[in-house]
Amino acid sequence: MTSLRLEHIVKDYDGPGGRQPALRDISLEVGDGEALAIVGPSGCGKSTLLKVVAGLEFPTHGRIYYGDLDMTEIKPQDRGVGMVFQDYALYPAMKSKGNLAYYFEHHAYTHEQMEERVRRTAELMGVDFQHLLGRFPETLSGGEQQRVAIARCIVRDPTIFLMDEPIVNLDAKRREQTRIEIKKLLRTFRVTTLYVTHDQQEAIFMGDRLAVMRAGRIEQVGSFDDLYYAP
Ligand code: ADP
Ligand code: ADP
Repeated sequence: MTSLRLEHIVKDYDGPGGRQPALRDISLEVGDGEALAIVGPSGCGKSTLLKVVAGLEFPTHGRIYYGDLDMTEIKPQDRGVGMVFQDYALYPAMKSKGNLAYYFEHHAYTHEQMEERVRRTAELMGVDFQHLLGRFPETLSGGEQQRVAIARCIVRDPTIFLMDEPIVNLDAKRREQTRIEIKKLLRTFRVTTLYVTHDQQEAIFMGDRLAVMRAGRIEQVGSFDDLYYAP
């Protein structure tokens, strides 16, 4: 089994008043295909934790392993990590299809390979996804944009999937729909996932296990039953 392991991760930011600790000695293990939901209040370091795994921030101390691979030695673009942000972050000048195809057009893939990967991804996203492909992001609702952003990650077949508050900016109805879609996707796609939210109910719904975070530390890790019903 290939697990994702964070070992003693520390991240300090340089702030106006000197070094600001954002992550204070975080160790975590996520199993192959497992979804770990990380829940904690705003500012506790959740986004920073995902950025460190994605390689968007470099840890001050500590190592991240995927199996035997030391991820901290690998360039962000070569880590096999897909990240979904709360603001979707689609390329606005490209239709959804272009957003999905972009990666393949800039790497050594044939047009047929790209078409095949986009087709399989659209299938995985559900029957009502296909019609979004020909549209520009600005013509899509927030929920639809986030589905395209998720598909843009999936199409690259990531080994690690990172989601940072993916439904927080949607209205209540779309949030409910999208949260069910994401859960279904995690079940079928079975990719190792870190899912970040400030919402406890959402974390319980999404995670195979939960990690409770506060002030740069993981306070508890376990299944819902472990955390809420343990004697
Ligand atoms: P969360 O995602 O849980 O809201 P963040 O990881 O965004 O928390 O932030 C953790 C702490 O690090 C906060 O105190 C935040 O202000 C600080 N922080 C985040 N990003 C930066 C940055 N680029 N420079 C300086 N401080 C930062
Ligand atoms: P939400 O409440 O999720 O933001 P909207 O009310 O923005 O959803 O959109 C509802 C429907 O209208 C969606 O199916 C979306 O694709 C479509 N839509 C939204 N904005 C535009 C637009 N500028 N042009 C065409 N269709 C749009």
